[in-house]
Amino acid sequence: MDNVFSSPHPLVAHKLTLLRDKNTDPKKFRELVREIAALLTYEATSDLVLYHIDVTTPLATTRGNTLSEKIGLVPILRAGLGMVEGVWNLMPSAEVWHIGLYRDENTLKPVAYYNKLPTEASVSVCLILDPMLATGGSAVATVDILKRWGVRKVKFIGILAAPQGIENLQAHHPDVPIHVAGIDETLNQRGYILPGLGDAGDRQFGTG
Ligand code: URA
Repeated sequence: MDNVFSSPHPLVAHKLTLLRDKNTDPKKFRELVREIAALLTYEATSDLVLYHIDVTTPLATTRGNTLSEKIGLVPILRAGLGMVEGVWNLMPSAEVWHIGLYRDENTLKPVAYYNKLPTEASVSVCLILDPMLATGGSAVATVDILKRWGVRKVKFIGILAAPQGIENLQAHHPDVPIHVAGIDETLNQRGYILPGLGDAGDRQFGTG
């Protein structure tokens, strides 16, 4: 699958297994979400653009690098919140823009209930953070919002994806790379990823 990256890293595989375990408690679950998000972001950002700057060490001046693109982290409420801290630690100057979506029961389409983006885009790269790419409806709607806002480069970072979610996101936004810790078999009738890890929001916030 073009533009879909399931992490090959042993640390990610190990942590994903702990995350799936139904006996993992919310504190450990949050820690794992944070750590996996950081590891996936390390992989997902390998193409960020740099420009050269001079840096003076205690001994000499040499050429160094600094990130040239302004980065926005876009957690999808509520489960994406737990991914923010791990990613933000890697890029503390990133802006964080929250997006809240619910599914309209009549049209079954995602509707934004929280979106405080200013009129003009203040960042040039956005990393969408949502642990579960299930049907892909929220991810597609979020990319729609970000592209309308004027962001050219959008990446999706999740923990688990279902084939249905990948297909939906790629059909609407083939330019958006998908970075996940694993790709599962399918969705159940309630739209949960199988075998998955359950409800990522409930398991983080202890509401299950
Ligand atoms: N959201 C979740 O939290 N879990 C799933 O399996 C699918 C969507």
